[in-house]
Order: sequence, then C-alpha cells, then structure tokens
Amino acid sequence: MPESYLHGLNDDICSIKGIGAKKKEQLSAAGIETVGDLLSYYPVKYKDRRNAVRAMDAGTERDSLVTGRLIKVQLRPLSGGRSMTECTLRDDSCVFYAVFFNMPYLRKTLDTGADYSLFGRMRVRNGARVWTNPEFSKTGGDRDVRGILPVYRHSAGLTDINLRKWIRDALDTTDLDTDWIGSDIAEERRLCGQRYAYSNIHFPESEQHYKKARYRLIYEKLLMYQLAVRVNGAGLRDDQTDSSVTETDMNEFYGGLPFELTEGQSKCIEEIMADLSSKRSMNRLVQGDVGCGKTVVAEAAMYRCAKSGLQSAMMAPTEILARQHFESISKDLSKHGIRCGLLVSGMKPAERRSVIDDTASGRIDVLIGTHALIQKDVLFSDLALVITDEQHRFGVAQRKIFANKGRGVNVCVMSATPIPRTLAATVFGDMDFSIIRSMPSNRKKIITRALDAHTRERAYIDMGRELEKGGRAYVIAPSIDSEDDDLYSVQKLFEEIKERYPGYTAALLHGRLPAEEKASIMDSFKEGRIQILVSTIVIEVGIDVPEATVIIIENSERFGLAQMHQLRGRVGRSSRQSYCYVINYSNTETAQTRARAMAEISDGFEISEVDYELRGPGDIMGTMQSGNTSNDILLLSRYTDILENAISDADKIMEEYRGGGSLTDVEYAYERLMHADAADNSNVI
Ligand code: ADP
Ligand code: MG
Repeated sequence: MPESYLHGLNDDICSIKGIGAKKKEQLSAAGIETVGDLLSYYPVKYKDRRNAVRAMDAGTERDSLVTGRLIKVQLRPLSGGRSMTECTLRDDSCVFYAVFFNMPYLRKTLDTGADYSLFGRMRVRNGARVWTNPEFSKTGGDRDVRGILPVYRHSAGLTDINLRKWIRDALDTTDLDTDWIGSDIAEERRLCGQRYAYSNIHFPESEQHYKKARYRLIYEKLLMYQLAVRVNGAGLRDDQTDSSVTETDMNEFYGGLPFELTEGQSKCIEEIMADLSSKRSMNRLVQGDVGCGKTVVAEAAMYRCAKSGLQSAMMAPTEILARQHFESISKDLSKHGIRCGLLVSGMKPAERRSVIDDTASGRIDVLIGTHALIQKDVLFSDLALVITDEQHRFGVAQRKIFANKGRGVNVCVMSATPIPRTLAATVFGDMDFSIIRSMPSNRKKIITRALDAHTRERAYIDMGRELEKGGRAYVIAPSIDSEDDDLYSVQKLFEEIKERYPGYTAALLHGRLPAEEKASIMDSFKEGRIQILVSTIVIEVGIDVPEATVIIIENSERFGLAQMHQLRGRVGRSSRQSYCYVINYSNTETAQTRARAMAEISDGFEISEVDYELRGPGDIMGTMQSGNTSNDILLLSRYTDILENAISDADKIMEEYRGGGSLTDVEYAYERLMHADAADNSNVI
C-alpha cells in the first residue's frame, strides 16, 4: 500500500519523528540531509544480541541480555526532586531487578505481568542482581533490544540509540516498494528488494539476510556508477577549439620554472599537449605518487590554454589546498601575463562577486577553487580545461557539471591514488592514463619508524633535533578534542608540545577553525614563523611545505594505510633527509601490520595493494555510504563478479535507452550519485 507511506527517499530528514533543528544540524554534519541519506547511513558493525542468558548466570564483567516477567514496579522519590523506578522481574533462574533513575513515567508505561528484555551491566547489591539504567524493551515487540543490532560511525552528538530509532521510523514510513532496478534485472541477479535491503542492512534478521542485503546494495552502487560513467561518456567527447601555442611560448614557460622537469613530468605534459591539439577533447587521469610533482603538469596545461585565449578551472578538495595552489600557480603564471583567481566558499560576498564577474567576462584566465567552482552562478566566457586535483569523485561527473559552463571541455584528473590500469578502465570508462613514475632527483627516501607507547619518546627526541637544525614538523592526531583516554587529541598534544619545545612556536590546525584562520596558520608555517603544526588530517592531501622534515602520526591505528602514506607525503619534499614516525597503541593485528607496512614500504602502489588486503567488511560498509569517491568505487569494484554483472547490465540498459527506451533509471542513478556528492562532508575533521 504505497499510498499510505508518508515519505519518499528525497524528503527532508526533519520529516522523521523526533528530528528537530538541533538534530538536523548534527545529522547534516554527518552528511545526512534526506530520508534516503539516513537509510544509507550504514552500520560499521553489529552487536549480536540474540541470545539471552539466565539472570543467575549473568556476569559482572560485561553487558548481558536477560529476559523475564515483570512482577512489580515501584517509584521511589529521592532528594532534590529526583526519583528512582525499581522493577522486579523473574526468570526461571531467580528474581532480579532493573533500576531507572529520573524516569518516573515508566511506572505508568510498564506492564506488570508482561515479559521484558534487559541489556546492560549487572551488579550485585546486598545479594540482589541489579541492572541499572539498562536498555530495555517488551520482549517480541518491534523495538526489541534483542537481535543483531547496528553500531554506527559516531559523529557529533549522534548515538546508536537515536539512529536506530530514526532509522526504524524511516523504514516504517518510507515508500521503498517502487524499486528503481527493473524486475528483469532483479530476477536475473537474484537481488532482494529495496525494503528488504535497507531493513536487513540495519537490522539483519540473520547473517543470511545481511549478506543478501549487502549484495544488493553493492550491486546497486556499482550499477549506478556504471550508468553515470556511460551517461557522461555519451556524446561528450566532441570537437574542441584548438588551443594551439607556439614552441617559443611553451619554452618560455619551461624556462621560468625553478627546476628541470623530471622525465615522468615531461612525458605526461607531452601527452596532455597532444590531447589539447587533437580534435577530440581530453579525458585523462594523471597518476603519480605523492610528491612527484603533478601541480606543474597542471600548470603547463593551463598555461597553454591561457596563451590561446581559453580559460581553465582547477578544483581542489579542501580550501587549504585550493589556496596553496592559487599561491604557487599564480606565482608561476602571472609572470607570463596570465591572470589567476581564487574561489572558495568562505569568501566575502563582494570579493566573490568580483571573481565571478571577472570569470564571466574572461578577465580571469585560470580559476582555482573548491566545490565553490561548480555553483550555478559561476560561468565562464570560454572554458576549455577542467582539472581536478586529488578529488576524483568528480571525475566521472565533472564533464556534465561543466558542460553548461563551456564547450568541448577538456578534463584532467590528478591523483596520488594508484589504480590498476585494467580496473581503472572498467571503472572510469573512456579515459586515457598518464603515469608519472619518477621523483624529482633531489629527493631522499623518507625514513619511517613504527613506534608504540614504550618507544614513543624517540619520535619527539628526533623531532627536537630536526627543529634545532631548522626543520619544521607536523604532529597528527585523529581527533580534535577527544575525552577518550586512549586517544590523542590535537588539543592535548598541543599543550604537551608547547611545554616540551618552549623555544619554538607551535600552532593548532583543524577543520573547526574558520577558513581565514586556517589559511593564516598555513601561511605562517610555510614562511617559518610557526615551526610545529599540530593538526588533524585536514592537511592530508597536497600540502606542500618543502622545509618540513618530520611528521609524527599519533594513534596510527585510527588511520588507513593509504591515508598515512598521503600524510607521509607531506615531508620529503626537498633534498633534506625527512622522517616519519607512526605511533600505534593498539594490539590488533591489522593495526600492527599497517604500522609495519608503513615502515617497510615506501612505494605508493605497493601500499595501496596492502591497504586493500587489510580492509575488512566494516570498511566496505563505511565505504558504501560515502561511496562516491572513485577510491571507494574502486574498493567496491574488488567484488569483480558483482562488478561484471553491473557492467553488463549497465550496457543493456544503455542499449535499451538508445533504442528509444526510458531513461528513468539512468537519470535516477545520476541524480542519486550527484546528490551524494553534494552531501559529502568528508572535509569536516
Ligand atoms: P604532488 O605530485 O604530490 O602534487 P607537487 O606538485 O606538490 O607534488 O610537488 C611537490 C614539490 O616538488 C613541490 O615543492 C614542487 O615545487 C617540487 N617539484 C616539482 N617538480 C620538481 C622537479 N622536477 N624538480 C624538483 N622539484 C620539483
Ligand atoms: Mg598535489
């Protein structure tokens, strides 16, 4: 009875019971804006709470699940207007108690004589077995505390209990019965329906149910992506304006660089030049390990376009990186009379207006920025080239996004993430590849050591020595201000470091700081007024401060391997010897293997192989929900059998479409993908 449902997947999250302005803000910080986003906020793991124990057998060391009949409920007033509700229950082993503080209404809502399930830690008080403030529910009711229960990734103020409640409500009140995947495909691939998938990914009835749900969700994501790749490819590689330049012009650019290009850079630039002078527009992925020098390759391409009177846009994943690019690129290009502009979201309206006007009129040749570049009112007079740096989640869609901003747009995606060529071709569709294998010749291998709580000191001693020699240091921690004793927060480290290195200036950097403050801290660090930067992973990609020679990564167990490799790439950017310390505080095998891999492997391609191998099912589900960066799509694409099915089905759908069939599902896939892109909030940390 779809009519009786209240919500569609695209409805605002506030339409769910109990979500007001404050909760909406918290959800929004986790990237959840719509009912569909909420349902796609998949658990990272589950608690198996199917088997109750006898109350007599419950231990005091860990939480336990018991069920029993409610015999008596008593409300006892306490001092200061507080109260205690004491419930007496019995199972076939003994009488036991549940105590709730300050929930006087329970006395009226609990049914004496009914069976209840309790979950929590038992304590023995005066010989009685007591559960204090346990999770509880009527046994067999639809909010049962028993079962396989989801655990979510925690962010700003969201709790599992709330999320479970809202998701249950969304499942009950959303129209999930009109499936966008056609019934013929569903049948052939034995896919469960949407309702089944969402219900069982959150509240799986059994492992079997969970697997079926997961299979469908992975297939669905891959199919959406494959369709989007095809839609974007269709008819978009059209003729382009020739952006020819003279050799003298190009030589002027090369001559102005402070270094000789490496072989890898030269070859890559040649490939791009050939693309730009061909009739067909460019669609190229440039891969090269951190520090190999991709920025100058982008500069060469933008230089060429500007010299032919055409505009370029370059998009970076964070504001810090966009500003850095703006500074270094305008330094290199302005001496050739090329005008660069910066567009980021934190700008003053008047400033923004003037950049937008100059872009529309053609006074700006090269526009550099963040997502802000794809806003509707940003228009170009003659856009010919779009470069995205470290942000291939736009790779597949950028052509379409920029299609109404210019004509025959050339696309270049730069990435430090190594992607196996065969896989890349399947995932990205019609794209050419350049790989930069060589590093600038002045580089030394970064010395990396894996440390733990006992050997941690060593990192800070070495750091002191490097500071003395005039180096600069990064210290990275996983959280901003954690209460957790096992976790370093940048706040805590910052205090420690200020005390320890009184002769140096340290600064704190994280995503909650206002944009201008971040920018000014980065400037000071770059110029050496600050020597120690204590930071969260906001500095993960792209930041280039060649004087930095040490990076310490605290709580390495909280970081992914590829992520740590990116972090390590912040040092070793000059001819000086650099050092990286990863400090692991966890005994788990994965954490230890990751730390060891960092110490032993310096090559990005090898790192990414190990990274894939170490990722568990929890990661996969986490991935599915942010699932739009092509990294994530690549991870899912490791399910080669599912990928093959998705590819062949996408081809079939496109064929029907070309034959005059409906494009509804293709459009749907596209919308969903774009929506998820817009909602992505991965830069908040
Ligand atoms: P990434 O590939 O990680 O984006 P960048 O483009 O940021 O690397 O370059 C890293 C550093 O290396 C920058 O400081 C840049 O100026 C420098 N660099 C780039 N190419 C060369 C080269 N051929 N020789 C020496 N230094 C170079
Ligand atoms: Mg870079």
